Amino acid sequence: MKTTNKLVMATNNANKLREAREILAPLGIEVLSQREAGADCEPDENGSTFAENAIIKAAAVYDAVGLPTIADDSGLCVEALGGRPGVHSARYAPKGEECEKLLGELKDVPDGERGAAFRCTICYIDESGHTEFTGACEGSIGYEQRGSNGFGYDPVFMVGDRTMAELSAEEKNSISHRGAALRELYRFLRERNGE
Ligand code: IMP
Repeated sequence: MKTTNKLVMATNNANKLREAREILAPLGIEVLSQREAGADCEPDENGSTFAENAIIKAAAVYDAVGLPTIADDSGLCVEALGGRPGVHSARYAPKGEECEKLLGELKDVPDGERGAAFRCTICYIDESGHTEFTGACEGSIGYEQRGSNGFGYDPVFMVGDRTMAELSAEEKNSISHRGAALRELYRFLRERNGE
């Protein structure tokens, strides 16, 4: 039986850390941020898939600190844009301007063609190698920004009649792409830890 008590998350993003801590809490795992673990690295995310980028990020931090590490790579895939911005979601526009730019690109796209999905791959890596977990959240792109929770594209991503930014953290966790991938990771770690 192998017990993992400390896990580094290859990020300093407070939202991602909170989501991971909430979902993995029942396992008694302490999730450290990259900074808390003392890893000062920002590898080039030059993969062409979410999985490739997640592996790049997890491997860089694992090599630096030697503790079991997870990294996620995620993004928004918009049907009317042929899946863009996808792996380029973080670089699509300056931070804080991504929603405005997206609404502009979709301004002539009618109802019924505004489908989109958040996608996430989480890579877990330790001395035995790496494993990937995926999650998706289907929705559509609205016509205006609404809500102040979350980050990134949340204010324009519609799930039902609310945007992701209008959901509480718990509601978002229960349906989000990262929540789904984290729950897969949770099941994997629970089995590994023999619980
Ligand atoms: P990453 O940090 O390299 O995975 O970048 C993913 C980018 O996709 C972020 O900078 C956001 O713009 C976007 N993104 C990923 N997950 C979410 C989410 O849950 N809500 C809103 N935007 C997200």
